[in-house]
Amino acid sequence: MIKVDKLVKRFADSVVLDGIDLEIQQGEIIVIIGPSGTGKSTLLRCLNFLEQPDGGQLTIGDLSVDVTRATRRQILEIRRHTAFVFQNYALFANKTALENIAEGLIVVNRWPVAKAHERARQILDRIGLKDKANAYPASLSGGQQQRVGIGRAMAAQAEVILFDEPTSSLDPEWVDEVLSLMKQLAEERQTMLVVTHEMSFARDVADRVVFMEGGRIVEQGPPSELFRAPKDPRTRDFLRKVL
Ligand code: ADP
Ligand code: MG
Repeated sequence: MIKVDKLVKRFADSVVLDGIDLEIQQGEIIVIIGPSGTGKSTLLRCLNFLEQPDGGQLTIGDLSVDVTRATRRQILEIRRHTAFVFQNYALFANKTALENIAEGLIVVNRWPVAKAHERARQILDRIGLKDKANAYPASLSGGQQQRVGIGRAMAAQAEVILFDEPTSSLDPEWVDEVLSLMKQLAEERQTMLVVTHEMSFARDVADRVVFMEGGRIVEQGPPSELFRAPKDPRTRDFLRKVL
């Protein structure tokens, strides 16, 4: 469903993604782990063209592009297939929970406001925030704000949701409610690519865990194998520190 070949990204002189090959099947839950500064966020951002990659081939559905030659129209098409959940929620402070969820449908998908709001209400129900439709982000807890961030991604009905450390900014008390919403999506077989340090989530929910270091994929496999019997010494070393 999504495939990247030899994805490369440089910042100035440093190679941050050094030829990433990754394939994601429909309905697959992939968790990416690895030390910080390893290129995990950059990988997600390149998949969505939030960063312009410097090399590689990206295939999403029927569309296959040399990333250095992607047209504006192709980039918009790729963005329609992917939704992003940010570490810091990235909600509009001057919009209500309902409006935050409806915004993309109105602006990007050009839905009529009433239809977008109706869909946003259904989403608010699914994320357990029906009674917060008219609340502004500042009046919501961190956990509620991130659930709105996830709700916005759900509203887009993208094939894949990209999560970049969705619980890292949260006070510990809010982590579980966000993880359980993500588990709910996983049970519905929403295709997702999740960067996280929550190893228990990786172990319980992932179909495949990908360990990255230094801009490369070092090792990947089902959590039962990767956590129990990592093959590469770098994976072993990392897991020893985090488990
Ligand atoms: P991770 O998410 O694994 O912690 P990142 O993808 O954020 O890693 O960063 C990988 C490397 O790229 C780091 O060395 C970081 O400093 C660098 N980097 C990330 N974004 C930028 C940027 N916009 N400009 C310059 N360097 C960047
Ligand atoms: Mg990161």
